[in-house]
Amino acid sequence: MEMTREEFIKMCGIMGLSLPLQASFSTDGKSKPNNNFRTDFSGKVIIIGAGAGGLATAYFLGQYGIDFEILEASETYGGRMKTVNDFADFPIPLGAEWLHTNPKVFKKIVNNSSVPVDVETVGYDRTKDTVGVWENGRLEVSKLVDSDRKFVNSGWLDFFEKYIIPSVSDKISYKTIVRSVDYSGDQVILNTSAGDYQADKVVISVPLKVLQDGDIKFQPELPSDKSEAITKAVIWDGFKAFMEFSEKFYHTTTSFVINPETEGQKLYYDASYGQDTEKNILGLFVVGKPAQDYISLSGDALREFMLNELDEIYDSKASSSYLKHIVQNWNEEPFIKAAYLTDHENWRRVRTLGKSVADKVYFAGGPYTDGEDWVAVHAAAQSAKTAADEIVK
Ligand SMILES: Cc1cc2nc3c(=O)[nH]c(=O)nc-3n(C[C@H](O)[C@H](O)[C@H](O)COP(=O)(O)OP(=O)(O)OC[C@H]3O[C@@H](n4cnc5c(N)ncnc54)[C@H](O)[C@@H]3O)c2cc1C
Repeated sequence: MEMTREEFIKMCGIMGLSLPLQASFSTDGKSKPNNNFRTDFSGKVIIIGAGAGGLATAYFLGQYGIDFEILEASETYGGRMKTVNDFADFPIPLGAEWLHTNPKVFKKIVNNSSVPVDVETVGYDRTKDTVGVWENGRLEVSKLVDSDRKFVNSGWLDFFEKYIIPSVSDKISYKTIVRSVDYSGDQVILNTSAGDYQADKVVISVPLKVLQDGDIKFQPELPSDKSEAITKAVIWDGFKAFMEFSEKFYHTTTSFVINPETEGQKLYYDASYGQDTEKNILGLFVVGKPAQDYISLSGDALREFMLNELDEIYDSKASSSYLKHIVQNWNEEPFIKAAYLTDHENWRRVRTLGKSVADKVYFAGGPYTDGEDWVAVHAAAQSAKTAADEIVK
């Protein structure tokens, strides 16, 4: 029988194995960057993609003193940490929003004890926060028990902009779409929309859907176990929306029962939670099958669909207090194409996705982990550390 991430984590607990966070960044979190580190590798590394995985890989390679370059298809860095700052008076995260692990992870990512790391986050309060669960036309309200944390007036992108991007930004080439990776010879040759590039090693940090769709060709083809994992992986569709209301009529979160739960997740939530703001901003997070309801609509029809859905739950209070909204359809992003690898993926398959190939092709990012934890930004950073360590070993 296949084991999911939840089952794997449960098993770790039972067997006393190290959990994802302890397993990651295990040795260097408290030390200065590896000044005394010695490696025989002195070549050049090209990283494909400037999302959390690619940026963190570059940062860790920089700490090791390795020469690197990042090739990014779009006009900007950050990938699924995309944020807008002009919708409200606090940053609105259109992708990654919550911290799904212990805040100690920020120091571990920075990996340099001489840098003071200060990131404010807030957890939910189980004594007063409420969740409404909507099922069969009824809202069941209870206390919210949730260990995730929200950034306070900042976000994952701010964290990267403050601590990671300054040391890698001048090595990013934008509007450079990688189309093929030839690793058949001594050097890896990349063909891109901006010409050919050459390096000793390459780190693939593009969304899994990009590989699944064959947008990057490999010469020779990737090993069969890797190709099979890429083909068989289940990748969820993704959509987010933020709506401003003049009145706060909703619970901390409003969850929808998805049956079976492996098909996705859908949640309205108080996006202003913990922020220094007077504005009532409600977020909508929806991944997997239920995302199709939103992705298939646009403009007024999409707005009406969301308001009708909220009106039904909250006594028509949504339409009467609606001010404005923004949406983010992740399937429409040309170089991202979906939300992310399902939470319910088999961990052995994830481990295969993360494995390097031929001492030349490495993988880092949300789906390319050791199978203990995946998708979240901290997991992408953890996989970046693993890839950088393996490159210099
Ligand atoms: C709706 C949504 C909500 C989420 N919520 C959370 C959350 O609350 N907390 C959390 O921790 N995580 C969350 N995540 C997950 C998290 O955002 C991602 O897993 C993480 O940001 C992925 O980083 P990455 O580097 O692997 O990929 P990406 O951020 O997608 O970066 C990949 C980069 O590769 C580039 N690229 C693609 N193709 C090419 C090519 N051919 N050549 C060159 N460059 C290319 C892309 O333009 C992109 O910049 C969420 C994601 C989504 C979509």
